[in-house]
Amino acid sequence: MTSRNDQLFAESQKHIPGGVNSPVRAFRSVGGTPRFFERGLGSRVWDADGKEYLDYVGSWGPLILGHAHPDAVRAVQETAALGLSFGAPTARELEMAEFLTAWLPGLDQVRLVSSGTEATMSAIRLARGHTGRDLMIKFEGCYHGHADSLLVKAGSGLLTFGSPSSAGVPADTSKHTLVLDYNDIDQVNRVFAERGGEIACVIVEPVAGNMNLIKPAPGFLACLRENCTRHGAVLILDEVMTGFRTGPKCAQGLYGITPDLTTLGKVIGGGMPVGAFGGKAEIMAKLAPTGPVYQAGTLSGNPVAVAAGLVTLHKVTQPGFFETLTARTQRLVDGLAQAARDAGVPFSAQSVGGMFGLYFRAAPPTSYAEVMACDKESFNRFFHMMLLEGVYLAPSAFEAGFVSAAHSDADIDATIAAAARVFAKLAP
Ligand code: PMP
Repeated sequence: MTSRNDQLFAESQKHIPGGVNSPVRAFRSVGGTPRFFERGLGSRVWDADGKEYLDYVGSWGPLILGHAHPDAVRAVQETAALGLSFGAPTARELEMAEFLTAWLPGLDQVRLVSSGTEATMSAIRLARGHTGRDLMIKFEGCYHGHADSLLVKAGSGLLTFGSPSSAGVPADTSKHTLVLDYNDIDQVNRVFAERGGEIACVIVEPVAGNMNLIKPAPGFLACLRENCTRHGAVLILDEVMTGFRTGPKCAQGLYGITPDLTTLGKVIGGGMPVGAFGGKAEIMAKLAPTGPVYQAGTLSGNPVAVAAGLVTLHKVTQPGFFETLTARTQRLVDGLAQAARDAGVPFSAQSVGGMFGLYFRAAPPTSYAEVMACDKESFNRFFHMMLLEGVYLAPSAFEAGFVSAAHSDADIDATIAAAARVFAKLAP
């Protein structure tokens, strides 16, 4: 008997390319049928066949309060009743901008958009407009959304499908993107020494979360900061994933780096489409309507989306929120690593705040090359066995995972127990 998930996927493939509206959802890398979700509550989701899962994807990061948090849902309902969109300024957008600029030291001004891609794409245009330079530095395996200039040796779905650069990006565009190795300080110093005067900006994930999870090596982010300052380039910390996910002051607070521009998304919308980019006043002043760099959006700062985001931001910045989330995520990765050791499976795991990486290799990777050397086949088997156990992980060996405030200690224990059963079957 085919399942409802199978039926929906078969139908979807007739009407939507690959059956999905974003590639990694298609389970291509792990194989099998993607789960179509019907509802979520707290740490759990239910698929079209009624099967329940503990969810460690959380809509790819935004749902840090868990699914359908009552306060977020209420804010959305109350705001929606007053009108879905105006295409004119609202007090709620001001509230979010005031919150963000007061909260993050490097953010003098901020502009709201509707996705992470819009945030990074706009930040790069702004950095180029501000400096009058074209060259951008990014790092292999980092993903910053699907704007043309960023789809060069990128991460996330591009790694999942084994083609880190996209067709359809003109060579004229990609020639302005220099791709370096994440965590290679010497290489950064060398490139800046040679071409510093041409570099408009460096964009980096302060914790790389789109090639599984890689922590910044000691001194790596500081080296970017120093080089950008010395050579007049704009440092863009892409905190779309790490913002309000790694700590209350984002990764920039955790690692003590003040960028020139910050990009945000995911958590700041609490599951609704909100992105943002902001930074130094002198740079932000270059943006239309005050400056020559154009950027706009029909639904930017959408009141319903911003309402969900504000509820989320207020909760995650409460004292103690990140202490609990960080400890719980740490307990998860420690428990998984111990279960694998007990079973004799080469495996490691680590976390930063509420995000984590799982690796089928003996120690956490520190570079793109090391991530690529992980045992992808073992991950795929692990993924499917965990799915059967009722644990929903990201359907790719190259994605980070997420714990929410709704995940209880009992949820974590149940996940570790499920993994122990799976590792026993995977043991060599
Ligand atoms: N930057 C980073 C670091 C991301 O992780 C993502 C999405 N995973 C993006 C940008 C793009 O965001 P969106 O998918 O909302 O366009």
